[in-house]
Amino acid sequence: MQYKLLTPGPLTTTDTVKQEMMVDHCTWDDDYKQVTQKIRSGLLELAGVSPEEYTTVLMQGSGTFGVEAAITTLTGKDDHLLILANGSYGERMADIARHAGIHYQMHQWPIDQQPDAATVEQILKEHQEITHVSMVHSETTSGILNDVASIGAVVKNAGAVFIVDAMSSFAGVEIPVKEWGIDCIISSANKCIQGVPGFSYVILRKDLLEQSEGNARSLSLDLYDQYKTMNVDGKWRFTSPTHVVLAFAKAMEELKEEGGIAARHQRYYNNEVLLREKMSVLGFVPFLGQDVQGPIITTFYYPENCNFTFREMYDYIKERGYVLYPGKTTKEETFRVGNIGEIYPEDIEKLCSLLKEFLESR
Ligand SMILES: *Cc1c(COP(=O)(O)O)cnc(C)c1O
Repeated sequence: MQYKLLTPGPLTTTDTVKQEMMVDHCTWDDDYKQVTQKIRSGLLELAGVSPEEYTTVLMQGSGTFGVEAAITTLTGKDDHLLILANGSYGERMADIARHAGIHYQMHQWPIDQQPDAATVEQILKEHQEITHVSMVHSETTSGILNDVASIGAVVKNAGAVFIVDAMSSFAGVEIPVKEWGIDCIISSANKCIQGVPGFSYVILRKDLLEQSEGNARSLSLDLYDQYKTMNVDGKWRFTSPTHVVLAFAKAMEELKEEGGIAARHQRYYNNEVLLREKMSVLGFVPFLGQDVQGPIITTFYYPENCNFTFREMYDYIKERGYVLYPGKTTKEETFRVGNIGEIYPEDIEKLCSLLKEFLESR
């Protein structure tokens, strides 16, 4: 059955991106290696950073593999990581650190509040042992967009390395990587660039990576080794997801055709504003305040006196062409709607009229 995904990755891709996967490609071929190199330099351009200072390393696996590769390769055995968390993806970084035996501490905020620079500054002052700070930009748990710029400034002041999981926001929100003090930023193929799942990418300062030899706690996730191999001529260390890579190269072209990050951000933003407005009329109150709501995904409470389950609503909407996303908040009963992928205002209109029909049928 055909339906559109209103989920934050995998997301709905174009037919032309999917079409690219009809070709079987070998991995040592020059054409293919060129595709990898073009993706790497194209990602640096999207990040607005220079190839003299930064590099891109692609890593097989889902987004978490990229975050784990970055954290476990950049931190040495005497380093100390501060994790700022206001949702599950921030907490996952602590899980990664625990598994790898990295010295870390986590500071948590409620999921509807942004980590604030004043608190981070205080922690950094009290804990001189901290060498690295990590956080999530768009916390997909709630849809909140965190203020990376203000935190980056205090992290730089303290001389620490700043690692940002921008999985669900990179290319969907403008991120001036260097200006915000970001030393390492991570995203994956199946988010705002609108490719299919299969690899993640890490854009990071070359000098930091060059100093990271021997840090990695795992062979497969050794970002330094991956870089050393890939940097020669674009050949991946170990088998690469060829079909996914070709689809991603096409998705990058389509991002450019749409008008780049600014145009894509505008489309996602318009989707989100329209969604919140239409849903409120139906009695679905947004979970987040408008001031912290990001354009990627929106969390809603169920209407008052709700007489249905998520499953019933999900099935009704899915039969009619759209897939919703369950909530991930710990306390309140909520569900989520993604605004990213090949989704346009007419899809939001359609979804809301289906939800209206569903509510009236109860
Ligand atoms: C999607 C996502 C990830 C990665 O999740 P995977 O399931 O490993 O792809 C990490 N962080 C955030 C904020 C995400 O939205």
